[in-house]
Amino acid sequence: MLDYETKRRITAAFYPNRCPFCGEIVGCGEYCCNGCRKILPYYDDNETIENISHFCAVCRYTGIARDAVLSLKYGRQVCAADVFALMISEKLSGAWADFLVPIPSGFNSVWNRGFACAEIIARKLSQRLNIPVVRALISSDSKAEQKTLSRKGRYENAKSSFMLSKRRDVFGKHIVLIDDVCTTGATLSAAAKILLDAGAVRVDAAVFAKTENLGSNTEGDRSDE
Ligand SMILES: [Zn+2]
Repeated sequence: MLDYETKRRITAAFYPNRCPFCGEIVGCGEYCCNGCRKILPYYDDNETIENISHFCAVCRYTGIARDAVLSLKYGRQVCAADVFALMISEKLSGAWADFLVPIPSGFNSVWNRGFACAEIIARKLSQRLNIPVVRALISSDSKAEQKTLSRKGRYENAKSSFMLSKRRDVFGKHIVLIDDVCTTGATLSAAAKILLDAGAVRVDAAVFAKTENLGSNTEGDRSDE
């Protein structure tokens, strides 16, 4: 079976790879241009999120990093997911877990976009890290828009919007939650609580972008969170 890099190189012969941050065509083995690599708004905070043992983010949700997230979300520029997965894998290099769990998108957003961002990133990441993706959480689709809620309201809303998939056993497992953007952390925290209550021993989280001002209700374009 062809590995991830080989498949990507073959695809690039027909559809040139573009830098998801500036749109420039890049080489078949490359994911983004060097110029953008240099100027990305890298995340270097050390925030803690309740129920999450270790949280990591690649970028702050601003500038070209934010534009690339929006291009994946709404422009369906799937090449952005390649670079997000690459950069998250660099952050997680050497990390070990039993499986990756993508934060589920609501049915409506999947229907509108045709795909679930977190799941696409998790699947690409899985190929890089050799850690399987397990859809241990499913969306109950009852949630209100997170960005309209208070911090506590977000947590309660997020908690009621996920369910443990009955067919997935997380007991004793070390899990890494994957998402494209983290706003207040309420979604990740609520998802982790469900997994810990079901017997998971440890839950970490990795996202591509983290909004600034933890606790603010005004930022972000993440209707899912
Ligand atoms: Zn670029």
